[in-house]
Formats: sequence, structure tokens, C-alpha cells
Amino acid sequence: MIDTHCHLNIDRIYEKIELVLKEAKEANVNKIIVPGFDLESSKLALEIAKKYDNCYAAIGFHPTEIKGYDEEYAWLEMAAKEDCVVAIGECGFDFHWDTTTKEEQIEAFIKQIEIAKRVKKPLIIHAREANQITFDTLKKHDASVVGGVLHAYAGSLELAKEYTKMNFCFGIGGVITFKNASSLPSVVKEIDLKYLITETDSPYITPVPFRGKENAPKYIPYIVEKIASIKEIDQEEVIKQVQQNVLKLFKI
Ligand SMILES: [Zn+2]
Repeated sequence: MIDTHCHLNIDRIYEKIELVLKEAKEANVNKIIVPGFDLESSKLALEIAKKYDNCYAAIGFHPTEIKGYDEEYAWLEMAAKEDCVVAIGECGFDFHWDTTTKEEQIEAFIKQIEIAKRVKKPLIIHAREANQITFDTLKKHDASVVGGVLHAYAGSLELAKEYTKMNFCFGIGGVITFKNASSLPSVVKEIDLKYLITETDSPYITPVPFRGKENAPKYIPYIVEKIASIKEIDQEEVIKQVQQNVLKLFKI
């Protein structure tokens, strides 16, 4: 099984990374993508990917972290060419917080879309309270040539169908196990399995029945189980198809 979004690069997880990786392995979670969200966490993601065979880096700048960033984009493009970097992100829009303006977020996102296109690597997208503008920006800037994943997708089924035409898939995580998962169960039910991948977003969004505890990649089997039950298929089928999807998208 695979965790396509796991912040091993956050201090409180990084300080016990050996244990987290050991428990992941025991739960048959064998590949982990570590996304950066600012310069430091991207550098740490890279370091982790170089040190641990089963870890891969995504590097990028989260929309709330881009204030004053300038030279950082040159570093991003240079580092993005390294083999252990499998994606650009997480990047996108977040209008829940107001640490950065809409204009700043648009500029930062477009820069990262263009870098992804130049280095020919997919995007890991964070979109909070920004479903339509995220879609419109990706479409306007031809992000379909690299594709990517809508991490923690929170949009409608209709929008999800449009995304599949643009070469984007959906990162399904702990939210799918919540009772108030809004439109996500219908997305998982109706969208073809070849557009779904699994993620935890550790240390956040812990799945049921562990809510309140810190999230970890070892909980991926609970996401697989939930996807299988919603789609009324075998867990083995989910595991195999997600492996193929991840291979196709991230080349791992
Ligand atoms: Zn994240």
C-alpha cells in the first residue's frame, strides 16, 4: 500500500521517523511521498527521500507560506530536477486563512505550475475553500500536460468529473471515514478507481476509529478498506489499482 501524502518532514513526526517507517512497513505501507509546504520542509523532504529508499519527495510552497518568496522559486526549479523528487507541491489555494492575499496566491501557484511543466513532473494540489478557482487556474495554464493529484479533495462530483478529463486524480484520506464527509463518498463511489490514490496527510486528518490521535502512514489500510466498501469491491483490487495509478502519475 502507498501513502501519497505524508508529512514526515514535520518536526513532531521527523523526530521519530524510524518508528513511523517501521510501523508503516508492518502495516504493508511500502511507499511514502513526503510533500513540502515551504522552503525548509521541502529541503527536509528531499533529505528524507535521499536517506530512505521507500520515501519520495514532493517539493513546493503551500499558499499560506509564500509571503516574500522570490529566490526560493529558483531553488525549487533546480531541486525539482533531482530523481527523488516525484512531484511539485503541495501548492494551490487556501482562502481559509488570510496570511497571504489572493493575488499573492495566484502568482505563487502559476509559478509552480510552470515549474512543474518545465521539469515534467506532476502537481500535488492543496485547495481549501477554493474549488473553482483552483480548477480554472489549472485549466488556464494547461496543467493537464503534467497532471497531478487533488490532495484531500473537497469539491463536488461534477467538478471531479471535469478534473478526470484534465489528467488529475484524487487523494483519498481520513475524511472518507468521517460521518460528515459531504460529497466525498459520492466522488469515491462514482469516479473510476483509476483516478483514486490513497493518502493520510499525517500528522493531520486521522481516520476513524483513531480520531483524536496523531495520524500516521500505518493507517492507510483503513482508507483502502473504506474505498473498497463504498465501491463494493475487494480491498485487493483497490490496492492493485492504486499501485498502478501511482506508478503512472509519479513513476514510482
Ligand atoms: Zn499536506
